[in-house]
Amino acid sequence: MSARAVVLFSGGLDSMLAIRILQRQGLDIEAVTFRTQFSCCGDASCVAAARLGVRLTVFSQDESYLDILRRPQFGYGRGANPCVDCRIYMFKRAKLFMKEVSASFVASGEVLGQRPNSQTRRDLERIEIHSELEGRLLRPLSARLLAPTAPEREGIIQRDELYDFSGRSRKGLIRLAHEYGFRDEQIPSPSTGCMLTEKTFAPRVFDLLEHTSENRDWDFQLLKVGRHIRHDALTKMVIGRRAQENVTIEYLARHEAARPCALLLPENFAGPAVLLVGNVNDHTVQSAGQLVARYTNHAQQGPLIVSAEQAGRRWLCEVRAIEPALSAMTL
Ligand code: SF4
Repeated sequence: MSARAVVLFSGGLDSMLAIRILQRQGLDIEAVTFRTQFSCCGDASCVAAARLGVRLTVFSQDESYLDILRRPQFGYGRGANPCVDCRIYMFKRAKLFMKEVSASFVASGEVLGQRPNSQTRRDLERIEIHSELEGRLLRPLSARLLAPTAPEREGIIQRDELYDFSGRSRKGLIRLAHEYGFRDEQIPSPSTGCMLTEKTFAPRVFDLLEHTSENRDWDFQLLKVGRHIRHDALTKMVIGRRAQENVTIEYLARHEAARPCALLLPENFAGPAVLLVGNVNDHTVQSAGQLVARYTNHAQQGPLIVSAEQAGRRWLCEVRAIEPALSAMTL
């Protein structure tokens, strides 16, 4: 029976190649992918796994994942991405899975020096040590630049059939993909598929962490939708930019809201949903109502009426459109 390896698989070029390299050495592959609430492109990994002919197990984050985001031991990357801690989290889960499926080791498509915030030699060592996979974590694309792993020493893997890629260039990786028979359209473009790496998303995360110490999953879900305006230290307003975002804002307002909030909707004109979060009082409700009027595309004759709803209570307010106050900050 062939030896088995668990491969951390994103559906990107690097992890596709890692699987092909191991398949060529006769390994049986169990691919695992992680879905966090900040990741997208999940379908891409399913399609790519099917193309490679490997089983794919999908893991979702649990509550402890948000602790990583709140207080990463190894810091953030260029955005709000705690990549080293996140990789440790994923490899720890992959290690458990390795035992469940009787695999000999875990592998990934990491390339030495490819990402400055998570793939330096020190980062790769940290990830291996803190995920408690010492000697059992193989990076086939850079293995010949790293210390030999247990599967190499045990003869499960031939080291001279592994690679010595390093750095950011994809040229050699694309050449190898062609050697393995991938066509250009099957080679994914580089992307982390993770909102935490986006420079426009990071300020929202840091604003939440700064102003709301008791933050919960609901708060992070809200970060992904709409335009965010910080009104004051306690209060934020979230404005839908599209019909789907308005629906999501209404849903979040009515389902397990983590803190006091009021939902404002246009009554006699077409406009966005606005969620007022934090300090709900006459003044902030009026300001949020004015934002509903401010972000409408339609000219309206006569008074603009906005409904406000908080904890099952609903009332109507007359508003006029205003620009957000100078003190307010769009995130
Ligand atoms: S890019 Fe996102 S999902 Fe990937 S390791 Fe970094 S934080 Fe985790």
